Amino acid sequence: MSDRLNSYLKENSDRFLEELISFLKIPSISTDSNSKADVDRCAHWLKDHLFNIGITNVQLEETPGHPIIYAEYLIDASKPTILLYGHYDVQPPEPLDLWDSPPFEPTIRDGKIFARGATDDKGQLFTHIKALEAHLAVEGTLPVNVKILIEGEEEVGSPNLEPWIKDNKEKLSCDAVIISDSSMYAPGIPSIMYGLRGLAYFEIEVEGPSHDLHSGLYGGAVPNPINVLSSIISSFHDADGRIAIDGFYDTVRDLVESEREEWKNLPFRDSEFLAETGASELAGEPGFTTLERVWARPTLDCNGIIGGFTGEGAKTVLPSLAKAKFSCRLVPDQDPLEIEKLVIAHIEKVCPSSVKFKVGQHHGGKPVITDKTGIAVDAAKRALKKSWDAEPVFIRGGGSIPVVATFAEVLKTPTVLVGLGLNDDRLHSPNEKFDLENFYKGIQTSAYFWNEV
Ligand SMILES: [Zn+2]
Repeated sequence: MSDRLNSYLKENSDRFLEELISFLKIPSISTDSNSKADVDRCAHWLKDHLFNIGITNVQLEETPGHPIIYAEYLIDASKPTILLYGHYDVQPPEPLDLWDSPPFEPTIRDGKIFARGATDDKGQLFTHIKALEAHLAVEGTLPVNVKILIEGEEEVGSPNLEPWIKDNKEKLSCDAVIISDSSMYAPGIPSIMYGLRGLAYFEIEVEGPSHDLHSGLYGGAVPNPINVLSSIISSFHDADGRIAIDGFYDTVRDLVESEREEWKNLPFRDSEFLAETGASELAGEPGFTTLERVWARPTLDCNGIIGGFTGEGAKTVLPSLAKAKFSCRLVPDQDPLEIEKLVIAHIEKVCPSSVKFKVGQHHGGKPVITDKTGIAVDAAKRALKKSWDAEPVFIRGGGSIPVVATFAEVLKTPTVLVGLGLNDDRLHSPNEKFDLENFYKGIQTSAYFWNEV
């Protein structure tokens, strides 16, 4: 990369941070209907920002939900076209009292910026925007064709993104997609993520009597929905920790031996992983290491449970209702819709006829495995190596970015996931942060990336 590009990054580094602070100050909480005006303001801020750095073709696309920002800078049809994806919406900041500084007043401490969205995804997205700015400012153009797609509904399951991508298939056509919305394996170890788990999310309601009953007058003779719900939940796993739903593992792609070997070579200690959790022991499916359990095996976890009397003191009630939310992390080649059917069939089988139950589904996502080679992956590898001065590792992730499967299916395009966050960034939690070192090295990596492509 030219010295001029590098010196541009250095000379403007303070301004980059100030701009990131302005971006982070906007509480673009997509889940909260009271924040609609702020989410809108954030979309406009981004649109103006892209325009001001020299990407003149920027559109703010209204959707039934929050706006999508689409921009492009096309230089030469014979050169590769890369689509940059990111999201400008953030998770709700609650519980507020656990933040050391207010979530929407970005604060710098110990070389880290603390704010909601610092790493997920405003900070990571902004690294690419600043790298594009540097190319435009120094060279007056970009080295490749660039398309930019930034949504405002990632944290609510992107309900309007897939239809928009389908409607704009031609406009979005590209050779590869780049996303920075995940983590590096560890500090100083640049990483490319090539696998993500998918998701199926359920809500179950079990109804017994039509109203709460006196447990002395009726207890023992009437079904208790909480007892029944508990037995349904406990039937999801066998005694060893395997999921006991018929057919659940049928389409799970086995780990390949070379993959298992590669993962064994990553610096990883169960003890450190355990310490992060505060639990007393690790648990999971037999026959797999911790990394394998988290990256390559499916799960079923209860996420919340409510019912009956939970106030202070004692109340001898036999409740009428019990509810729970639970979700499965899925791995290739499990299909969320197929898993939903299996889960419901299982509940039908185990639920006694003395109660009624209803199962609802929330947004899901397909699991993916992407190629480990290709123009964007190879370019990202070289760019990461140059800016971090270390060989990048290939990792999988336990989380979900459903749009990756959409890009593969609709655009027939591979995605490269260059995570710049760290595992302790506390995404979705109080005190979310982004290390400034990762912010600046991320900008440099992206600047190299556009050249390397
Ligand atoms: Zn994100």
